[in-house]
Amino acid sequence: MKKLLIILILVFLLCFTGILIAQENLQIYFLDVGQGDASIIISPSGQVAMIDSGPNENLILNYLKNLNISHIDLLIASHVHSDRITGMDKVIVQYKPKAFIDPGIPHTTQTYERMITAIGKYSINYYKGTSRKINLGSLTFIILPPANPLIKESEINNNSIVIRLDFKDFSCLFTGDIEKEREGQLLNESRNNLNVDILKIAHHGSSSGSSPLFIKSVNPETSIIFCGKGNQYGHPHQETLTLLQNLGINIYRTDLNGTILVETNGTDYQVFTEKESIRAPPIVKAKLKLLNPKNINMLLQKIQMYFIILAVFM
Ligand SMILES: [Zn+2]
Repeated sequence: MKKLLIILILVFLLCFTGILIAQENLQIYFLDVGQGDASIIISPSGQVAMIDSGPNENLILNYLKNLNISHIDLLIASHVHSDRITGMDKVIVQYKPKAFIDPGIPHTTQTYERMITAIGKYSINYYKGTSRKINLGSLTFIILPPANPLIKESEINNNSIVIRLDFKDFSCLFTGDIEKEREGQLLNESRNNLNVDILKIAHHGSSSGSSPLFIKSVNPETSIIFCGKGNQYGHPHQETLTLLQNLGINIYRTDLNGTILVETNGTDYQVFTEKESIRAPPIVKAKLKLLNPKNINMLLQKIQMYFIILAVFM
């Protein structure tokens, strides 16, 4: 009788924790890929989106493997420079994404050719990055298309796709490599889509982008800069860092912090860094919440384990 009761409690707890697992957080990994961008977005119900694949094929494939990514729902190339699409062909072959989006501006490199060939060969659903809204589970992606007409100045960078990600009250903006020309246009075209919690700074923190008016309008609490340690371009530029610091915006950098993970329940978010000890100033106040679903989940898993141990000994 006692055993039956324990089994019943066990079943109940398993169901209960199962429900809570389904309510987990949104995770965004800003991967340390050196001088390039690569972000992996995992929705609370397990859908996966990836924006850019960085400059190193082996690196991105290893990250995907180590994060136990089994499928990709949405694959986006913000633009087609090699620091964003290297290894994209291999990612396409291995993960066969349900949809692929790029700005639709061809490039002459072999890396680009390989990517386009893979899309054709595996009949991947290809979408040109026109203005659209994509729902992926509880996430919403708003695609802000390249300029129309295309900006000729620094054409591939300036005509990057810009992506806004929303999850409940949380928002994040991915700006590719846009420069000041495009920032100015975006402020006119879709200002109400630009105000976010977290801003992926454009173009590795180059002073060719991040104009004061743009940064003030986006008004993020936290910024993320992808850049390689000691890169030849001097990214991020001091001008950008000074602007962010003066506005009191938290700065995280892949060259100093390694891979950066943002985890959110849709209201609050926490930032975790691979290299905790090195953090670009100003220092971020820890946002510790004791009763978020994940903590309850861990607590219940612990209780569940005690019951299993108890059951074994009875
Ligand atoms: Zn670029």
